[in-house]
This record gives sequence, structure tokens and C-alpha cells, in this order.
Amino acid sequence: MQQQFSSDNLAGICPTAWEAMAEARTGHAQPYGEDLWTSRSADAFRELFETECEVFFVFNGTAANSLALASLCQSYHSVICTDTAHIETDECGAPEFFSNGSKIMVAKSLDGKLTSEAIEAIATQRKDIHFPKPRVVSITQPTETGRVYSLDETRALAETCSRLGLSLHMDGARFANACASLKCSPAEMTWRSGVDVLCFGGTKNGMAMGEAVLFFDRSLATDFAYRCKQAGQLASKMRYLAAPWARMFETGAWLANARHANASARRFAQAIEDLPGVNVMSPVQANAVFLRMNEAVSDFLRARGWHFYTFIGGGARFMFAWDAQADQVDALARDIRLAATSLPT
Ligand SMILES: *Cc1c(COP(=O)(O)O)cnc(C)c1O
Repeated sequence: MQQQFSSDNLAGICPTAWEAMAEARTGHAQPYGEDLWTSRSADAFRELFETECEVFFVFNGTAANSLALASLCQSYHSVICTDTAHIETDECGAPEFFSNGSKIMVAKSLDGKLTSEAIEAIATQRKDIHFPKPRVVSITQPTETGRVYSLDETRALAETCSRLGLSLHMDGARFANACASLKCSPAEMTWRSGVDVLCFGGTKNGMAMGEAVLFFDRSLATDFAYRCKQAGQLASKMRYLAAPWARMFETGAWLANARHANASARRFAQAIEDLPGVNVMSPVQANAVFLRMNEAVSDFLRARGWHFYTFIGGGARFMFAWDAQADQVDALARDIRLAATSLPT
């Protein structure tokens, strides 16, 4: 199948992750995370984040988010996020399921970002026994709409959380793209800005699969290993989930992959931003570009074989992965130009 830009999950495994898998392929190692690959990768996280955080490896983002939130909540608690948050719209109720009923409370958001005002409004609207008790705020960095919270924005949200007695969870399915975009360190983006728990995505960063859950407040990680096991997320041959991380960090591939993906999104947006009837819906800050375009242009693109979704963020979404090929990005842009300049608007 030729390259498409409907999702960053269409891409394969990057060479660095593949090499690490190959290196771990033979020989015997202890199962269930008691092996050297796993401890090496957990240490690599601690080094990258410049702190002694607790690190767990799970298969995917839904599990990472759901189990992290479940560990922060009792069943009578609530989680505050935006109406476009992956935990609300794309996890099939897993956060509620794994927390035995914690309720997700959404704030309407036009750009996918949560604000202190929205958190405060939801967290303080009721204090009575009949209302689920607010306990956690969850933000996505970068957002599902391709926006990045600045460090100041994250710090402001964290201050609001601490004032209201809430923990701050970050869904970092594309965390590397946010680091590349802000050119800041992982530590600055997270615990130094007040984030308590991070889910760091490996899959969209170029690994075969796997996400890491990092607890900066280590007391929140109590018994988390049991949650992982009970949820079917404790890999017996853990080395294959764990090994790629250390090498991704040592070689810098995690950041190089993210930079390439972000640059591909910018290349695409720049190639089409002046076209009549095609509107880049928000600033391109990570690896996503959302376009508003009329039906005729959309139909033309589909007829030319391009895939894209229109149910996220109110426009046509194009995502660029670690392996985005410039000529294919340009081919898509050319087809949009052709449609926009030749079809009636
Ligand atoms: C991709 C993604 C996830 C993880 O999804 P899985 O399919 O469960 O791995 C989580 N959050 C966001 C914002 C995502 O885009």
C-alpha cells in the first residue's frame, strides 16, 4: 500500500526500534519485566526525565491512560478533560471500566485545549454528595487537534489543579512531537511543570507497539503492577516491549522521528495554505494538519485514492508519521492544489 496520511499508525517500525528488537531476539532472559532490557529502558527513562520516576511498560495507549487514571481515582471520583480527549471519544469507556465507574466530565473546547477556567467551573460547580468528586485533570500533549500546550499553559493548569486538590495526567501518545515542537526537555514538559503522571507513546513514535506510564509522584504508583497484570497488560516476554525505548533515547531517534513528522506536516501545510477554498484550520504545531475544504475537493481526493478522516476536529485530518516521504507529501498537496484550482467552489 502506498503511503497515506490518514493516521500516524499506518507507518511501520523505525530502524532503531527494529535493531533493538533484533538485538533482544535471541538468548534467554527473565520473564515479566525481571530482565535486563526492561531495567535498562526504565533507567533510560529516568535519565531522560532527570528524575527517579516509576516506569511501567504496557501494550497500548488505551491501557496506559485507563490504568493510570484508575490508579489516581476511586470509583466515585471524576476526571476532567476536553470533549475531544482520546479518553472520552476513543477508548470505548476503558477509563470508566478500569476505574470501576469514575466519571469523565468534559469541557467543551474549540481548539482541543483545556483551560483553567473550564477546570475550575467543572470542579467547583457542585460540592454535594450527589455529584462525582473531581479528582484528576487529563490533558493531551499534543492535543487530538494537533495543538501544543506551551510550558506556561501547562504550568497554569497545574497550578489550578494543585489549588483544587486535583492530580494532573498527561496523555502523551505523541509526546515526542510536543518535545520537538517546543524544543524543551521532557522534564520541563512534565514534572517540572506540575504533571503527576505521563503516558508516553512509543507506537506513534516509530515502535511496533508499546507505551510507558511514568509516575513522577511515586506514591501514586502503589500496586500499579497488579493493575497491569489484572488488565492483561503484563507482557511475559517484556523485553520486546521494553528494549526499543533505551535505544530510541540513546540514539536520539525518538526526537529525530518526531522532528521529521512535524516538519512533514509543516511542509504539507505550506504547500497548500494559499489555495482558495482550502483552509488550514489551526496553527500546525505538531504532526497533524486539519483542513476545511468543500465536498467537491474531498470527493476528488477520495477518487484519487487518498484516505482521510473527517470526524475529528470538524475537518479533514492529515497525520504525518516518522516515515513520511517528501514526494508523497508533495503528491497529496499537488492533488489538493489541482482540485482547489480546477473545481467549482
Ligand atoms: C493514538 C492515541 C492513543 C493511544 O491509542 P491506542 O490505540 O490505544 O494505542 C492515546 N491518546 C491519543 C491522543 C492518541 O492519539
